[in-house]
Amino acid sequence: MKYDSAPILPGSTIGVLGSGQLGRMFAIAARRMGYRVHTFSPDSDTPTGQVADREVTASYDDLDAVREFASQVSVVTFEFENVPAATAAAAGAHAPVRPSGEVLHTTQHRLREKTFLAGARLPITPFTRVTSLTELMEGLVAFGCPAILKTAGWGYDGKGQIRIDSREEARAAWKKLATSEAVLEAFVDFRLEASVVAARGLDGRSVAFPMIENSHSHHILDLSVCPARIPVATQRAGEELARRVLEKLDVVGVLCVEFFVTEGGGLLINELAPRPHNSGHLTIDACVTCQFEQQVRAICGLPLGDTELLRPTAMANLLGDVWSGGEPDWAAACSDPCVKLHLYGKAEARPGRKMGHLTALGTTVEAAAESVAQARRALQRQLQ
Ligand code: AMP
Repeated sequence: MKYDSAPILPGSTIGVLGSGQLGRMFAIAARRMGYRVHTFSPDSDTPTGQVADREVTASYDDLDAVREFASQVSVVTFEFENVPAATAAAAGAHAPVRPSGEVLHTTQHRLREKTFLAGARLPITPFTRVTSLTELMEGLVAFGCPAILKTAGWGYDGKGQIRIDSREEARAAWKKLATSEAVLEAFVDFRLEASVVAARGLDGRSVAFPMIENSHSHHILDLSVCPARIPVATQRAGEELARRVLEKLDVVGVLCVEFFVTEGGGLLINELAPRPHNSGHLTIDACVTCQFEQQVRAICGLPLGDTELLRPTAMANLLGDVWSGGEPDWAAACSDPCVKLHLYGKAEARPGRKMGHLTALGTTVEAAAESVAQARRALQRQLQ
């Protein structure tokens, strides 16, 4: 269905498919601007549901429930990319879905995503499609070892991927991945990882946030700092690449581009996320407009906000592991007045589960990073 491009104004209702922390922070931004928010997911008492006007609990495959949900809102967005295509299509018959189901379709599958990026002549890690052990061996001959084997479909935070260090490991890796379609990637000996969150409005204008530098622990984002500690020209190049991705994909909404920054200062796109991103959480406290307000503006057809970074900033994730010694010492973590606490309202703190984050603004990124690291350590002081 074709929808007009008139802005969806405050007072209207926005529907969110998904109910995690990204939906929660989106709903907070939307409600601050006077919108109502409905959320749809198979769960109840969710991070998004707790702050939404209405929480609908139903399966994504229950297309009648999806249609009913979409018919009560002015626009539908999503907060994670594994929403089935049929769900997005069912919603799209009743309200505009932004970003579109086509954007979801491309970005929820590694092979489709990489094929799109290669076709758009955007810089990516060399890759090849692999559907058998023979093709895997051929790929390893072409790329050399080490190389990274990833499932073509569903995967995030390093899930569904195996590093292969020698050709002898190929058979076991293929067996372990247990899939009929995979992507083999050349190993990138990168200097650091970085991301750019950008938004594109209904009018086709796009705006990027400053590039963020990321470090991971066990494949899960641990610490982000902004601005990234790389030459300004490289940062601007990354921001420009992100805007090109949004344009080529015809995104209306927010999208994050994850990059490898090579030793020589080159940029390779590792992955796209068609939504706000964990690294972009620092924009809430550090930028004139945050990534969630930007998502509201973009999908509602409002002009996009200023993305300027106000001060050097760091963000540290709080995983369920922080609860290993009992309830964390929240007061201790807040004792530095520059540290901001964000918790997502999740009842069960499992290891590796994203429960919240801390953000600090500083005079330098090093000072900000030290503040969040110290506050995170203080949470578990009783263990030390
Ligand atoms: P992904 O799930 O594809 O984002 O990968 C998770 C993490 O694995 C990345 O953030 C990198 O740290 C690492 N990684 C993924 N692909 C490669 C690659 N081709 N070369 C080196 N490291 C990689």
